[in-house]
Amino acid sequence: MADTAVDELETFRAETRAWLEENCPPSMRTPMKDDEIVWGGKREKFKNPESKIWLERMAEKGWTAPQWPKKYGGGGLSAQEARVLQQEMSRIKARQPLFSFGLWMFGPALLEFGNEEQKMRFIPDIVHGRTRWCQGYSEPGAGSDLADLQTKCEDKDDHWLINGQKVWTSYADQADWIFCLVRTDRSVKHEGISFLVFDMQTDGVEARPIKLISGSSPFCETFFT
Ligand SMILES: Cc1cc2nc3c(=O)[nH]c(=O)nc-3n(C[C@H](O)[C@H](O)[C@H](O)COP(=O)(O)OP(=O)(O)OC[C@H]3O[C@@H](n4cnc5c(N)ncnc54)[C@H](O)[C@@H]3O)c2cc1C
Repeated sequence: MADTAVDELETFRAETRAWLEENCPPSMRTPMKDDEIVWGGKREKFKNPESKIWLERMAEKGWTAPQWPKKYGGGGLSAQEARVLQQEMSRIKARQPLFSFGLWMFGPALLEFGNEEQKMRFIPDIVHGRTRWCQGYSEPGAGSDLADLQTKCEDKDDHWLINGQKVWTSYADQADWIFCLVRTDRSVKHEGISFLVFDMQTDGVEARPIKLISGSSPFCETFFT
């Protein structure tokens, strides 16, 4: 790396360290407790009030999604800067401010394949933890062989009509929106699958928690009628 780049990175490290020292609340520097994990979304209660402050401050800088483009609310950091941020957070044992299938799964796919309107519509809400997402892929007869999924989706010109069932949908009962794989063409297996997103409050969407013998479980069965 050229000297200027090294210098810039060290400046970034110093600024990041100072910012974290000033902005990371004391309890956010302690080990995460299960019931204090912040998943965001409309139903987030923030059991520890400092976790709300921490999320807001980090999201304001785009540091919940450090490498996502700034125009969608991300941090716009290079890979090296993001690594420095992670190192400096580790140094003070800072908690991750947001756990989110939007950050880990839907957002990266949307940034890669979505159009501009879709990115502007959804990415900022993911960065700020305003929308909680769940993943509707697995079905009772389509797990390892995911491409065998049968949830039927018909184009009704002004809307899509969906009928079917998903399973193992983690936290579907607490999610605001779902990113979902549906079958729009039965004549071809892989090419007949479409990726659809919709509000979990839509009529005919029902999430039923699955009880496991081990006790607590994130899983749901999710029905589209
Ligand atoms: C913690 C966790 C969270 C999850 N969250 C979600 C979620 O949010 N959304 C979602 O959609 N899904 C979720 N899943 C579901 C997960 O993706 C499915 O478990 C996965 O798709 C496998 O499907 P299945 O459980 O039906 O197993 P099956 O496909 O029925 O497989 C059962 C067993 O048979 C084996 N097997 C399958 N096919 C073959 C073959 N052809 N030859 C040999 N062996 C085979 C498999 O290896 C496995 O051991 C989650 C799973 C876990 C564990």
